[in-house]
Amino acid sequence: MTTTPVTSPFSRKETSAHPVVHRQPRNRVFKDLPLSDLVRTLSVLSVAALPAPLLSAIIGFVRRHSSAIVSSRILSWPIRRTFYKAFCVGESKSEIAANIATLRSRGINGVVLSFAREAKLDGNETNSTSAKEDAGLKSWVASNIETIAQVSSSDYIAVKFTGAGAKAVQAMQNFKYTDSSKIDGLKALKEGMFEVCEFAKQRGVKVMVDAESSLHQPAIDYLTLEAMAKYNTDGSALVFNTYQMYLKASLDKLKSHLNIASSKGYTMGIKLVRGAYIYVEPDRAGIIQDTKPDTDNAYDSAVDLLLRGTHTTAAQPWTAEVMLATHNTQSVDTAMSLFRSRPTGKQPVQKLVFAQLMGMADEISMKLASEIKSMDGAVNAGDVSVYKYSVWGSLEDCLLYMLRRAEENQDAAARSRITAGLMLSEIGNRMTFWR
Ligand SMILES: Cc1cc2nc3c(=O)[nH]c(=O)nc-3n(C[C@H](O)[C@H](O)[C@H](O)COP(=O)(O)OP(=O)(O)OC[C@H]3O[C@@H](n4cnc5c(N)ncnc54)[C@H](O)[C@@H]3O)c2cc1C
Repeated sequence: MTTTPVTSPFSRKETSAHPVVHRQPRNRVFKDLPLSDLVRTLSVLSVAALPAPLLSAIIGFVRRHSSAIVSSRILSWPIRRTFYKAFCVGESKSEIAANIATLRSRGINGVVLSFAREAKLDGNETNSTSAKEDAGLKSWVASNIETIAQVSSSDYIAVKFTGAGAKAVQAMQNFKYTDSSKIDGLKALKEGMFEVCEFAKQRGVKVMVDAESSLHQPAIDYLTLEAMAKYNTDGSALVFNTYQMYLKASLDKLKSHLNIASSKGYTMGIKLVRGAYIYVEPDRAGIIQDTKPDTDNAYDSAVDLLLRGTHTTAAQPWTAEVMLATHNTQSVDTAMSLFRSRPTGKQPVQKLVFAQLMGMADEISMKLASEIKSMDGAVNAGDVSVYKYSVWGSLEDCLLYMLRRAEENQDAAARSRITAGLMLSEIGNRMTFWR
């Protein structure tokens, strides 16, 4: 039997009247992009702008016939030239390196790289007894290690625990922090994670653990905190945990994890997101913020707490490296101005990273890149940077990921319109110049 692990859709509907603030970044943010890139992104956005029922029908068709599409040259060629190039960083080591180099040449500081393939399992994982027999876990460790080998020392890899096979997922669902036998159930997964971290440490690559649904998150928190306690002890963060600010409990959880880190003497690695599992949470009303503005406020409060360093602990002061993974212009602008206006001297958060998904919110990434490039001495170079979260793999590996991105672009329709408008105006600018 072939099964695929639970995957993160990162996809949600934009339901709120609250500003998913799409304030227009200054014009000509795309002035350094070649025309071919502008046209490609516009064609991707125009597909996302199709009427919802038509787009759903197309996505459904592609899902059902993915193998046939991938093996047909005529059908796969346009997908490869448009969606694949927009959302994925490549397949071979040389292609990935070349695309990362192109991103860097445009001022993007690096990538958070994730392997797109979802492990194919044979269905016997839950019956096997030892870690060695667990094919799902072995393949998960191997693909994370392969991903680390694709990036350079200033980059990150993204790790998704539910990709570690059926046995691991079962152990995660059974996990209870207060029950030692349930903690033991995660032993193999913890060893696998440490193997990944060990290789990452040798290569100087950071390990970013994605947040998932609340069914799996307690086990993810446990495993990630264990890894942080082991690998974040030299004054910097190798391992990062993700905090979904749409959860009512997240701000308190973040404070409690800062307390644990300070009492154990390690640096916290923190990725802040709003959260992507809103439609799969069974107890949505109980655990998720009541409104979009509540989520926005929670996100802003966490940013404020971290960048101002207002949270105090009984033990020694906490330190953290922070990644703000968001496409929200207001969150980005607020955090950037807060970071830049801080008093000079030692701060609990020395390094701030912004991240957007490759192929999405490019105007925000490009604007950040240019702002960072033009920074004066007030903020040390390297203290603030902008990354793209990208996947790698063959067209077949990446197909499901691309479909989710196409859906998400449609959900974030207002933002897509801004990107398209800025790109069209850039093309218009160039035509005026040529005339
Ligand atoms: C680099 C990167 C990495 C990511 N990694 C993860 C990850 O590990 N785990 C994960 O879960 N997500 C992840 N995401 C997705 C993220 O959680 C958001 O879904 C996505 O970025 C959209 O949120 P936003 O901050 O960009 O802003 P916006 O577009 O302003 O906000 C949209 C978000 O607001 C929240 N929201 C919308 N409507 C409501 C409502 N009615 N009530 C309460 N809240 C609401 C939802 O979280 C929704 O996704 C990642 C995103 C990026 C850019």
